[in-house]
Amino acid sequence: MQRMIVGFHPDEQNDWVAELACLHNQHVRHDPPWQDRPWVRSELGRRSRLGTPIDCPLCDRTEMPGGLVTVRTAGPFTADTLPSGLRRAHRVAAGTWGRLVVLEGSATITIATDPAVERTLRAGQAQAIPPEVPHAVATARSVRLVVEFLRPLEYPAVSAGETAVVLSNAEPSQPPPTRAHGASFNCCGS
Ligand SMILES: [Zn+2]
Repeated sequence: MQRMIVGFHPDEQNDWVAELACLHNQHVRHDPPWQDRPWVRSELGRRSRLGTPIDCPLCDRTEMPGGLVTVRTAGPFTADTLPSGLRRAHRVAAGTWGRLVVLEGSATITIATDPAVERTLRAGQAQAIPPEVPHAVATARSVRLVVEFLRPLEYPAVSAGETAVVLSNAEPSQPPPTRAHGASFNCCGS
């Protein structure tokens, strides 16, 4: 899939690496006749490519970039409490990766990568979700799952409110997924 170039940095060999909006890095070498990118050699040339798209096969393979940390976890959800917005096509926000983790039972996730991913996860399995790519979750009747949100370590801490918006993007009327207390607790039941 196509991703925007948002920056460049040189590697140890002084080859240029493009930083993509999806948080992947990709070498952009000028190595004629195999790779014809004379623009990468000049500051002006690199600057002219900022904001332009480049193919990111790592996103299509849903390979999560290194160095990300979990900034928030939504859930656990069951088949009954899973926000309906997650069952329809929705997206994780720009600059944030998602990770669906199945704790019990099973769930199937479809992701509109190229080619599309369709994977059934069982207890203990997880699937990375690239930013800004439509995906949808279907669950077995018996399931417990969480959705983690990950960002680079150097990003400012994210507030609960912000990721609640991420989760409910596709469904503005959806209440934020903060069912933390109550319901399942019955400490004094006689
Ligand atoms: Zn990517």
